[in-house]
Amino acid sequence: MLGFGASPLGNVFDEVSPAQGERAVHAAIDRGINLFDVSPYYGKTLAEERLGAALLGRRDKVALSTKCGRYDTDCFDFSAARVTASIDESLSRLHTDYVDLLQAHDIEFGDRRQIIEETIPAMRRIQAAGKARFIGVTGLPLKMLADVAARGDVDVVLSYCRYNLLVRDLNRVLAPIAEEHDIGLINASPLHMRVLTKEGAPPWHPAPTEVREAGARVVDFCCKHGVEPVVFALRFCLDNPHVASTLVGMSSIEQLETNLRAMDYQMDPALLEEVNGLIAPVRDIIWSSGRPENNVQS
Ligand code: NAD
Repeated sequence: MLGFGASPLGNVFDEVSPAQGERAVHAAIDRGINLFDVSPYYGKTLAEERLGAALLGRRDKVALSTKCGRYDTDCFDFSAARVTASIDESLSRLHTDYVDLLQAHDIEFGDRRQIIEETIPAMRRIQAAGKARFIGVTGLPLKMLADVAARGDVDVVLSYCRYNLLVRDLNRVLAPIAEEHDIGLINASPLHMRVLTKEGAPPWHPAPTEVREAGARVVDFCCKHGVEPVVFALRFCLDNPHVASTLVGMSSIEQLETNLRAMDYQMDPALLEEVNGLIAPVRDIIWSSGRPENNVQS
């Protein structure tokens, strides 16, 4: 299942015109995409505002996911008071009275004990008040996500850049715990935050140069073999049996139409073997994120 990542609507990658973003959201709904993911962090509330405007009159056609606890590059607050106020602010921007999923955003920047003992219980109270149907956590370090999944009380875990052509440790580290605890897994950033596109990584991309270069080699290889790199990369993620939804960031109808082609594409095992060879020297290289104690590499 392919979901619509709405961070690009907050100009996280490039400047996106509001009209273009709105057209992409409407076209995605028309083409059957029914999961939209956003956060107050993306464009400092801009993505939520734009998605909320685009969903006016269409809210009942989609499952809507937003987040709490992260508000800027260095602005985090996972306290019960902030999280409780945050959902009301998000609901107002999204023009709705509930979200389908509320997630604590990038929990590796928080205190693990606070996340488990304060943030998650506060989100459960928000759920009990009818403002969120399900709750979850998101982040990069898989070991921390697995630990919170095992000890906290969540419905969903979203991890990003941990299952795509370049990094694949999601199934080893997090999927077994998620299955044991009956937790849904969302896999975000299937294009490794644009590394696996012809445009290449944005300037702020945290991956080491050799990873970005390997991604560019994969893109060239796919083009030479007549396969759209994005379609190839998305198909690889869609074939992961442990993942409920794959979230790709989109902001135009052209991107949407290309990405939907992945639904009908069948992975070519011979091409995949060659791509595996290209990325072998850099496979599973990941950067650090968040507090050192939360960031023990898997
Ligand atoms: P991604 O790997 O999905 O890449 C998105 C980038 O690729 C954007 O620049 C987009 O414009 C571009 N792109 C998409 N389709 C394209 C196409 N057909 N041709 C060319 N370029 C194309 O990375 P992402 O956006 O970071 O991840 C997807 C979504 O997952 C986010 O929007 C967000 O909703 C979610 N996410 C959540 C977290 C978190 O909670 N911590 C972290 C990362 C992502």
